[in-house]
Amino acid sequence: MSESAVASPETKRSALGDEIVGRINALAAISETPEHLARVFLSPEHRQAADLILVWMREAGMRAHLDAIGNVCGRYEGDRPGLPCLMLGSHYDTVRDAGKWDGPLGLLTAISCVADLNRRGRRLPFAIEVIGFADEEGVRFASTLLGSRAVAGTFVESALDARDRAGISMRDAMVTFGLDPEHVGAAARTRRELHAYVELHIEQGPVLEQKNLPVGVVTAISGATRLAAKLTGMAGHAGTVPMALRRDALAGAAECIAAIEEFCRTDESGLVGTVGTIDAKPGATNVIPGLVSFTLDIRAPTDPHRKLAVGDIVRRIEAIAKRRGLSLQLDVTHENRTVPCAPWLKAQVAEAVAAENYPVFELPSGAGHDGMAMIDIADVAMLFVRCRGGISHHPDEHVETTDAEAGARVLLRLVENFRPREQ
Ligand SMILES: [Zn+2]
Repeated sequence: MSESAVASPETKRSALGDEIVGRINALAAISETPEHLARVFLSPEHRQAADLILVWMREAGMRAHLDAIGNVCGRYEGDRPGLPCLMLGSHYDTVRDAGKWDGPLGLLTAISCVADLNRRGRRLPFAIEVIGFADEEGVRFASTLLGSRAVAGTFVESALDARDRAGISMRDAMVTFGLDPEHVGAAARTRRELHAYVELHIEQGPVLEQKNLPVGVVTAISGATRLAAKLTGMAGHAGTVPMALRRDALAGAAECIAAIEEFCRTDESGLVGTVGTIDAKPGATNVIPGLVSFTLDIRAPTDPHRKLAVGDIVRRIEAIAKRRGLSLQLDVTHENRTVPCAPWLKAQVAEAVAAENYPVFELPSGAGHDGMAMIDIADVAMLFVRCRGGISHHPDEHVETTDAEAGARVLLRLVENFRPREQ
């Protein structure tokens, strides 16, 4: 930073990375337990974090408040009051034993960008709003995107009756937090108020690191299909039943898993498939497994691509089961659509990346994000920042300060050059 003593806008900007990382650390200190970072929805730590974020927003020149679901909301007016906004943000809840960057990086970067504009007295022909979503991870009440769904007006009232593992309902937790559960609807925003929603987030994968790039432009948040498979064969004695006469459900599942992996590996357009759990019964060393259940998670950057892949994979599993004399039950347990990033907005993110002299590299997001809810009221785009080893949801999650800086510069460039979509 000392190479130049000239106070140009560029030198002023160079402190953003340090400010962001300092605040990441301050926020990470607010945790349920000191050893393992955990800040779940509506907990006392969650409230403490919200209060600190409100302070930072106000210092950045924003009007700031907690909305009806506990989202932290800041607004920086444009060159006249009341203009529609460009909304920036991410979430400030965490998983348990979390890393400190997933969520807060996007939120704190947005606040630092606004602070930079404010220091320079820069007003734009639109307002900027920064939002810290209260619940994205869905750890406490087993229901994700509660904060962004409330903003998008798609919060489902029945979620208030969900209970955490201590038996506390969301309704009661909201009251303890200082919110009125009867007024969640007040958090809802309308399409007219927003030009777009843009989120900066750690990649949570290893691709940018492998490409040696600090930032990447997200093409879409991949949709996902989850299936539960159950293979039924015949349990039997491991010593007495000859191999040719067996109907081993676990060996059948193993063949299915290898086939799923092979199918996804040969696809070169972002398809991923994972068998994440498996259970074999009766589950004894000397018994041939008669019943095996496993789960399957399939994601792709477009819905038609995912649906075709699911169909192909199901046919392969059916063929394996049939050949092995196993009966098969397959159920879709979860399905969410792909959220494409809006081409006009993604183009502006790419321009900002190029303007900061980084190669423009596009990649899909395999993980879910708040944009999945925000798409209902705004066009969405995302910028990914490289994280070490692609590790996330783990204490080893790490972002270099220079990469935090790179992300902030790109986001700031995007904001300053932002043009609303032409009507
Ligand atoms: Zn996240």
